[in-house]
Amino acid sequence: MSLIPSIIAASALTLVGVGAAISTGQKKVTVLIVTGQNNHDWVRSTPIIKDLLDETGRFDVSVSTTPTQDAPDDAWNDWSPKFEKYDVVLSDYNGKMWPEPVKKDFISYVSGGGHVVLVHAANNAFGGWSEFEDMAGLLWRGADKGDRLYLDEKEELVRQPKGEGPGGGHGAGHSYPIVTRDEQNPIFKDLPKVWMHVSDELYHAQRGPAKDVHILATAFSSKESGGTGVHEPMVWWIPYGKGKIITLVPGHLGTNDKYPTTYDCVGFRTVLQRSVEWVATDKVTIPKPKNFPTEDKTSVVPEAAK
Ligand code: ZN
Repeated sequence: MSLIPSIIAASALTLVGVGAAISTGQKKVTVLIVTGQNNHDWVRSTPIIKDLLDETGRFDVSVSTTPTQDAPDDAWNDWSPKFEKYDVVLSDYNGKMWPEPVKKDFISYVSGGGHVVLVHAANNAFGGWSEFEDMAGLLWRGADKGDRLYLDEKEELVRQPKGEGPGGGHGAGHSYPIVTRDEQNPIFKDLPKVWMHVSDELYHAQRGPAKDVHILATAFSSKESGGTGVHEPMVWWIPYGKGKIITLVPGHLGTNDKYPTTYDCVGFRTVLQRSVEWVATDKVTIPKPKNFPTEDKTSVVPEAAK
């Protein structure tokens, strides 16, 4: 009698393989991806992001697509995402300013305890929307639009005031190491302190109100690559009201980019999956993949090659 249940238990365990649900019975984190306009290939990146979240079994993901840039007002009036129904809103959006009622709903959502993940060019959006700029903290803006944060050669935090130094930009795309700066944060806790990311843009000199910014990871922006010669923030989070916003500036996907893109990087995928879980729950249950990149070597998911 005791043998049969253990065989069943063993078989059940065997079934929990790569990409399978990691926690049965745990309430799924609900996620709304907002997309529809971007100076990047959002048509491709949004389903990739949805799939990489779905494969963990940890999330229940929906997508809301905005009207096009030149859509009539009626189309915009009809677009009314129900942010409050979701634990997390993930923005893959960099386009036209949202209508006032949507902006208002978004601010109430975050103030009231909603959570936000901004990926790559999502922090380029919404110039002059001060609440959004407070939430993101550091954005793709000119040097006159706010302060900048970076780590200097002693790896000490520097706040460069508005108007001094470069504005938001990036050098040539290249592969670069990403360095954990908060080893207690559950997203990064069991990851190598330094790991090699695939070729991507390395954002530098992001600008903004930069209040309450918790830098979780940085990358060194080399002068040779057209960068700034300092350690630039790659992943950071900010509290806003009862909510949290986490920004990941890696994640470039241009229209003609071929495999391996940033979304094929096992490191980036893991950090994105875990960021969505952590921002909603303060915990991370998504395991570190066996093929996580190392300090010297990138690692990509071969099944993504198309
Ligand atoms: Zn880009």
